[in-house]
Amino acid sequence: MNLPELPEVETVRQGLIQGLQGKTIRDVLIRREGLRFPFPDDLPTVAGTTVVDIRRRAKYLLIDLDDGRVLLSHLGMSGRYTLFSSEEADAVAVPLLQTVNGGVPVSAFGNQTGYGGKHDHLEFVFTDGTRAVYTDPRRFGVIDLFPRLEEPVHALLERLGPEPFEHWTAKDLARALHQRKSAIKITLLNQHIVVGVGNIYACEALHRSGISPTCESRTLVRKNGSPTARLERLVQEIKSVLNEAISSGGSTLNDFASVDGTLGYFAHQFTVYGREDEPCLKDGCGGVIERMTQSNRSTFLCPRCQS
Ligand SMILES: [Zn+2]
Repeated sequence: MNLPELPEVETVRQGLIQGLQGKTIRDVLIRREGLRFPFPDDLPTVAGTTVVDIRRRAKYLLIDLDDGRVLLSHLGMSGRYTLFSSEEADAVAVPLLQTVNGGVPVSAFGNQTGYGGKHDHLEFVFTDGTRAVYTDPRRFGVIDLFPRLEEPVHALLERLGPEPFEHWTAKDLARALHQRKSAIKITLLNQHIVVGVGNIYACEALHRSGISPTCESRTLVRKNGSPTARLERLVQEIKSVLNEAISSGGSTLNDFASVDGTLGYFAHQFTVYGREDEPCLKDGCGGVIERMTQSNRSTFLCPRCQS
């Protein structure tokens, strides 16, 4: 399974907001000391707070609590949330916390969250009986809790580049690419330049714009610093490919009750990603998709229509 990229995280945000906005946390069940980092010591103090809003910055979910704090959640490589209504939680016949052979407590949701409940590390219980279960088998996820005033200087957030949406233009990208010799695909994955494009969507956007992933970044900028037509096209395609993935994710969410199983993982149709040796899908191209490695990550491209 691919790691969650920006569209998946945005879909998770939309699902969580439908399910949790305005609800008050009654309790947090913490089943291990942490994930990628230890959980904050004061995590249990979210009990009694209400979820006011859920925002997203890059791939970080920012859950605004009514006491002025932010609960940050990053899904890492395999994190996900599953929501259960009070009826669904009550229907779990066995107690909601159990231990296996006296060892690590597992969640009684078992295969409803996957992995027999062994990787349900956190569970938020709301006063109306709703539960949000965080499952993360690889444990690269991050949970943090801090006052909202500290958000602009938070170590994980302060150096992030712009979001690839409305206010981000080819001019902005041209400024960042001006002197840069690195391959354009590597540049697009640099979170100081633009956040959340990710490996899959970088491949897709480059294919759509007919730009080779190995193209030297600065060649997409004119001598006077303005973007070339190719760069304008690339920025447009980055926005479209992400927006299309977000809408297809959003269309899988209907209402809270029908969010069954897992938020944020949905079937994608990729044009180039993962299609090695298959025909290029561009009209009249006739090329064959190839795979190469850039900075230890797979790049997929059509050598015929990308230059
Ligand atoms: Zn092609």
